[in-house]
Amino acid sequence: MLIKEFISETNKNQMISILLKHYKVGSVKVKMKSMKDHAHFDVDTGTLELSTRYKTIRPSKIKEFLITIIHEIYHAMDSKKYGWKRFKGMYEYEMNLQIANGKDKYDDNKYEIEAENFGQKNYKKWYKIFKKEGLI
Ligand SMILES: [Zn+2]
Repeated sequence: MLIKEFISETNKNQMISILLKHYKVGSVKVKMKSMKDHAHFDVDTGTLELSTRYKTIRPSKIKEFLITIIHEIYHAMDSKKYGWKRFKGMYEYEMNLQIANGKDKYDDNKYEIEAENFGQKNYKKWYKIFKKEGLI
């Protein structure tokens, strides 16, 4: 494996930092932890969790990485917009609504659908920007 085949940790953190600034979620709580996913937004505490497990990202995983980060940032944007406690209540209400309708609390959850659409819609733009900047 060539060194070039990996995205350095510095570049990875720089991409995250650029995204957090762009989407103005700098005031949201961030926690670094070892976990399977690249990022996770904890609705219960209003915290954006970032994985420390991937020091580097393989080029084949960049799309997944960008979609995940942007998806979770969208939750952070919602949380900032409504206030995290209020958003927690809204999110729980939505989960219960889906369960009551016999649907899936995550897959059919409007906040999850919106976040995923946002990630899918925006990752290509960021891919191009980061490519141009030499970060990937
Ligand atoms: Zn989500």
